[in-house]
Amino acid sequence: MALSIHVTVWNEDCAAESAESVLAVYPQGVLGVVAAIYEGQPEFKVRTAWLSQPEAGLTEEILDDTDVLVWWGHCKHSKVPDEIVTRVQQRVLRGMGLIVLHSGHESKIMQRLMGTQCSLRWHENKDKERLFVIEPAHPIMRGVPAWFELEAEEMYGERFDIPAPDALLAIGWYESGDVFRSACCFERGYGKIFYFQPGHETLRSYYNPNVQLIIRNAARWTARDRALDRPLGSEFAPPLEEKKQ
Ligand code: ZN
Repeated sequence: MALSIHVTVWNEDCAAESAESVLAVYPQGVLGVVAAIYEGQPEFKVRTAWLSQPEAGLTEEILDDTDVLVWWGHCKHSKVPDEIVTRVQQRVLRGMGLIVLHSGHESKIMQRLMGTQCSLRWHENKDKERLFVIEPAHPIMRGVPAWFELEAEEMYGERFDIPAPDALLAIGWYESGDVFRSACCFERGYGKIFYFQPGHETLRSYYNPNVQLIIRNAARWTARDRALDRPLGSEFAPPLEEKKQ
């Protein structure tokens, strides 16, 4: 049997997330509902981690045991210590997968890995969203229909200040008129990164079976290849052949 994919689901656990409006939709919170997308699937071994834990929940030991880190943050991006951001960045460069969900677009780790602000236009109008899959052959879109709808989402619109994605997998359209690059793949060093837009904390997108399938497929695609994990930095390389005089 193949080795299981070790997924660490991280969340900033801000007070807004324990608000009644959130718990009415997700009684287990955003952290719980995202973790549940992987739990019960034998191919995944899931743990949760959050900001108020020692070392923001992301110790070297936990990252040693993480093939994919799933990041959901909203109002506490600035509270994530810079040394933890550097630690996660280096892990990604060494091959750890990273999935950034929804409002994580403006997290320090996303900005660090993209080298841009990752800002966008937004409003909370509970728009219907229609997502169009534009790369159906990509492994993350395996089993996903050509398009599907979410009953309500927070509008994220262009321009999304990211570098051109290595692969753009889906575009979202909102009934109030905007469009957005909703599913984007990037590669940095040995690491694969996937950004996925749905997931506002008071709406129901994490119950959508296509959203869940994409989030599971993304863990399969981004998961680090343990054989490729190697230290960063240049190394001295002696000549491979003697120079002929
Ligand atoms: Zn949101």
